[in-house]
Amino acid sequence: MKVLVVGSGAREHALCWKLAQSSKLTELHAAPGNIGMAEFATCHDKVQARDIDAITALAEKIGAELVIVGPEAPLVDGLSNRLKKHGIPCCGPSASGARLEGSKVYAKELMDRAQVPTARWEAFSDVQAALAAINRWRGPVVIKADGIAGGRGTFVCMTKVQAERALQALLVDSAFGVAGRRIVVEEFLQGIEASITVITDGEVVMPLHVVRSEKRRDHNDAGPNTDGMGAWLPVEELYEQQIEEAIDAGIKPALADYAQRGMNYVGVLYADVMFTKTGPKVLEYNCRFGDLEVQAMVRTMDDDLLDLLHRAAVGTLSEAEVSEPTCAAAAVTLVDATYPAFERTDTITPIAGLADAAELDDVEVFYGNVVATGKGKAKGIGATGGRVLTVTATADTVEAAAAKAQEAAALITFEGMHRREDIAANAGIFA
Ligand code: AMP
Repeated sequence: MKVLVVGSGAREHALCWKLAQSSKLTELHAAPGNIGMAEFATCHDKVQARDIDAITALAEKIGAELVIVGPEAPLVDGLSNRLKKHGIPCCGPSASGARLEGSKVYAKELMDRAQVPTARWEAFSDVQAALAAINRWRGPVVIKADGIAGGRGTFVCMTKVQAERALQALLVDSAFGVAGRRIVVEEFLQGIEASITVITDGEVVMPLHVVRSEKRRDHNDAGPNTDGMGAWLPVEELYEQQIEEAIDAGIKPALADYAQRGMNYVGVLYADVMFTKTGPKVLEYNCRFGDLEVQAMVRTMDDDLLDLLHRAAVGTLSEAEVSEPTCAAAAVTLVDATYPAFERTDTITPIAGLADAAELDDVEVFYGNVVATGKGKAKGIGATGGRVLTVTATADTVEAAAAKAQEAAALITFEGMHRREDIAANAGIFA
């Protein structure tokens, strides 16, 4: 099968690493790809992920039999619809499916309609009205930009001052432009947070491995929210029954709501779920694989992911279950000093120690914002800011996998590099 992967980050690198192991693969292409993905795929670096015309033209030119879309933005823009028109199978929802991620208000309205348990919420575009509600509610709140804000539009506010600052940034200073012109204010939930990913062909729902991640930038859950500083699986701190309940109450009703409206949701759906004392509650939906969660997940997956994603795209998923994780895995993100304020910078900083880290047993390093530098003997790899690398490791236990990933990460250096050293510190501990 000829496959095109859309995207250029560590998530897409991890997907290519896994797809390359499939006996069904004949050709792997990536657009735009990155230097890590180039080990497995022909990279078309002039074709940008959000350029739907160019992606479609490329898919036709190479005769792609499956397009796998990494980031959410092209899906929200309608890439899947366009590919479908051209008869090219795509593992990713249509623009209407991707609205689940593209608008928090849309997702919350759908959750209410489908009776999906979630945090109490209200939407606002006016600061005074939002402030009045926060005063009325009392207690901590979470304030979210309605639109796509690259994972940085959510503010967990433990104090009124923090809430006022978040409202100022979103509604007055327009820090996220149009995406933050409307906001959701919701109740702060406590519990164990986990990512539940399923793939679906619109009918069959196939749960993949559950992953947990560290969202805050700094040690001991301090600092701003990020897309994820570390991840691990298996998640032994949740019972099988709790996960089933989350899928039945949190994911299936959302998919059924789409089906009832005559719009089958096809592809990956991943929900951030808070397992509270009163049961699972959905924090948000994403219409693609988690960028970090999947880097850990592919390391423990025995099944042929290419086959599963193709079946989802063409509507032939069967009820067969995905096998249990083969081992434990942990992932550690290496970011630069500007993250999460900036996703990428213009400066290129040399990275040292990459080869030493990659040489360790059971370690794989997936590339995010990196570029090739120099020529000949001066050849190297440079960091371009934001999320630079994901270091993953496998072992028999989460603790050992996390220790190994940290050992590998410690060998890598670049100016301004930051990582959390307490990834998975709470693994196995009940809330
Ligand atoms: P989101 O942008 O909705 O994925 O939120 C990003 C992160 O903020 C989540 O992964 C949680 O750690 C945290 N968060 C979001 N909503 C809530 C909530 N209602 N209560 C507690 N934490 C939340």
